[in-house]
Amino acid sequence: PRSGYCSSDGIYYSKRPPVWIPPTRNFDLVSFVFAPQFGDRVAMVDAPTGRSLTYAQLERNVRVVAAGLYKNLGVRQYDVVMLLSPNSIEFAVVFFAVMSLGAVLTTVNSVNTTGEIQKQMNDAGAKFIITTAALTEKIAGVDLPVVIFGDDEVVPSFGSRATHRYSELLRTDTNGVPRIQISQDDIAALLYSSGTTGLSKGVVVTHRNFISCSCLYNSGVDEVFSSDHVLLVLLPMFHVYGLAICTMCSLARGIKVVVMPQFNFVEMLSFIQTYKITHLPLVPPIIIALAKQDVVLKFDLSSLFQIGSGAAPLGKDILSLCAKRFPNVKLKQGYGLTESTGACSTAPTNVSDMDAHYGASGILLPNTQGMIIDPVTNKPMPPTKQGEFWIRGPSIVKEYFKNPKATSETIDKDGWLHTGDLVMIDNDGYIHVLDRLKELIKYNAYQVAPAELEALLLSHPSILDCAVIPYPDEVAGQIPMAYIVQKPGKKFTEDEIMDWVGKQVAPYKKVRKVAFINAIPKSASGKILRRELLQSATAKP
Ligand code: AMP
Repeated sequence: PRSGYCSSDGIYYSKRPPVWIPPTRNFDLVSFVFAPQFGDRVAMVDAPTGRSLTYAQLERNVRVVAAGLYKNLGVRQYDVVMLLSPNSIEFAVVFFAVMSLGAVLTTVNSVNTTGEIQKQMNDAGAKFIITTAALTEKIAGVDLPVVIFGDDEVVPSFGSRATHRYSELLRTDTNGVPRIQISQDDIAALLYSSGTTGLSKGVVVTHRNFISCSCLYNSGVDEVFSSDHVLLVLLPMFHVYGLAICTMCSLARGIKVVVMPQFNFVEMLSFIQTYKITHLPLVPPIIIALAKQDVVLKFDLSSLFQIGSGAAPLGKDILSLCAKRFPNVKLKQGYGLTESTGACSTAPTNVSDMDAHYGASGILLPNTQGMIIDPVTNKPMPPTKQGEFWIRGPSIVKEYFKNPKATSETIDKDGWLHTGDLVMIDNDGYIHVLDRLKELIKYNAYQVAPAELEALLLSHPSILDCAVIPYPDEVAGQIPMAYIVQKPGKKFTEDEIMDWVGKQVAPYKKVRKVAFINAIPKSASGKILRRELLQSATAKP
């Protein structure tokens, strides 16, 4: 591919040299990741206990757990397995084990409600569930075979369905498990994202997508690669950032991955100190705390070499504060989506080298192309002009699961993913994310789909109409705000409506601000004019 901006076709080509991606034959994700055989090096560490697995042990566990899933539960190629768990070493083992069978993993946020989990289970057509003892109450009514992590915890009775312990799977004899023929185009995972509009949808990530993600991301991740690098995964593994970028890409590089099951800011600081963490991938709300909170100064964080930021916009002022507090640490922003299997751009050098690109989200990863499309004229725009960001490359996912309409609205026939983000690319190829054109709200970098909250609000007997918009918030980035049209004669307060929603959704989806209005502004085609609402919500009185 050419590099830089090409005016004749309006495409931005990556400035990075193209990278080799292994051929599609005889390479599924697991053979790809474990091919280098890092052997006795420590692969993963459970942060609270220090329990660890070497690469050889990790691969062995992947193989025997796969055998257990195959023999004891009957998991077969293309079966969907739901993983409902906080971060753990076992989370990664299951991810690879399911994939080695050619089965499909769907991950779900473990703070989701029973109803939300059930909805995803049905949509994905999950046949098996893997979870922890503590979370079994969330799947109490589900009649599917279940695997439970942890040996000691007492598990409530499940009635008729088959339950298995993870430890039992770890004792499986691998003989008799056939080698599954996996095509790289086969579906590997169903990660859920609401995309540009509507409800949460299954994003079909193939083996090829994961392998490409690893090849592209790892080629640009460090100027100096070292096996001494230690990366802390505190970002949730149910999301592409925690799963593909933090866990899979790190393991494919052969570095040590320290896993934090539950996020706690002070604990994070102590783990950085204890495990001499060098790489710390974060999201903006945690970077804000790192830049501002005094407790940070009580810990020795001198091992830190790189702090990453992605999944939501990071303010320039925070970047400056952080750079001041950690003068020797490289702050690297990246940009990406679930639909691009994680990152499609990262910063190539440290922040002090990129003054002119301060606050940018890096440059395109290798083998990746971009376009900036003017939303009005639909024409590609030259550098420094803004428009909707379109991306094309081998990590762009195949489709939305069983949803051709959403697929055709998001990935066009030429393979361009329409991101729904407003972006400007400068003269040096740096990506500046300016705004989000799509409906999606990001609260603490977690996805909240306005359509889901609107559907819930409309089921309230006193609500005639409503719209949910992203209200700006200094720490969380955005909070869900609801505009409500009340039915005539009905009266309820803002707090009542927030409580009512709060009882039915996962905590990160709560409506945190309410305003009443006589009518929701809509376009001629009936689309909610969200920008108009946002403008009036944020207008100075
Ligand atoms: P998700 O699929 O949950 O990863 O969400 C993807 C969305 O997160 C993107 O479309 C952006 O709106 C937002 N996002 C990701 N990275 C960045 C970034 N560096 N700056 C601003 N927004 C970002």
